[in-house]
This record gives sequence, C-alpha cells and structure tokens, in this order.
Amino acid sequence: MSERDATEDTTADNGSETLFERIIAREIPADIVYETDTTIAFRDIKPQAATHVLVVPKTRYRNVAELAAADPRLLADVIATAGKVAELEGLGNGYRVVFNTGADAGQTVFHVHAHLLGGEQLGPFGR
Ligand code: C5P
Repeated sequence: MSERDATEDTTADNGSETLFERIIAREIPADIVYETDTTIAFRDIKPQAATHVLVVPKTRYRNVAELAAADPRLLADVIATAGKVAELEGLGNGYRVVFNTGADAGQTVFHVHAHLLGGEQLGPFGR
C-alpha cells in the first residue's frame, strides 16, 4: 500500500480537507508532471489508460459545475494545463478529458479534477 493509500480522508464530501489539498501542499507525495500558479497535474495511482494524469486547480471547488460558476478563468486554466500535459506526454494522436461529477459518475474525491486519458486507443463511453 502506498503512502497515499494510507491517508485517512481521500474524499471529503463534507467540506473537510481532501487528499488533493495535501498533495498541493506537498504533505504527501505524488508523481507531479506539471504545475502552474493555479493548477497541478500528477499521475493517477490507478491508471485507467496508458497515460492517466489528474489536473487539479489549487483552489478547491467540489465539482466542475461549481468551478465554472465561481471562476471560469480557473476552469480555463485547468483545460489549458490538460492540453499542455497532453503535449508533454506525446498525446498528439488524441486524448480525452473527463470530469466525473457526482456519485452516479463515480466521483470519489470532492475537489474538482480533470482526468486526462490517452496514450492508446480509448474505448467508448458508458458502462
Ligand atoms: O473522478 P474520481 O473522483 O473518482 O477520481 C479520483 C481519482 O483519484 C481516481 O482515479 C483515483 O485513482 C485517484 N486517486 C489517486 N491517489 C489517491 C486516491 C485516489 O490518484 N491516493
């Protein structure tokens, strides 16, 4: 089990700190691939594609809808960081950017994050 798995509260759907604030604060390690003043990108510990990077704004909003309503420029920063990471990771053949939002979508960490997926032929959406 990695150090990150061992942290107590990874989800925080109740307003308390999530794992991602602790990664941003460098309190726990992550494989950081890119960072800006407003965003951080690190590899997902359970990759769902050959390349699977999470792009996280340093200011916390619960989900992408809250982020879009409160700070559209920060949402644009998240998308721009995803594009930059795609370039750095050599995903010129295509990639997917996904925001899981809410329980039915499988959101488990309630600090908004984009999943950047690529590096192989991706399957269709859905189940
Ligand atoms: O969209 P969702 O909220 O489910 O995404 C959370 C992601 O955070 C998962 O893909 C999970 O593998 C990742 N994660 C991580 N490191 C952890 C806990 C979760 O990269 N310690």
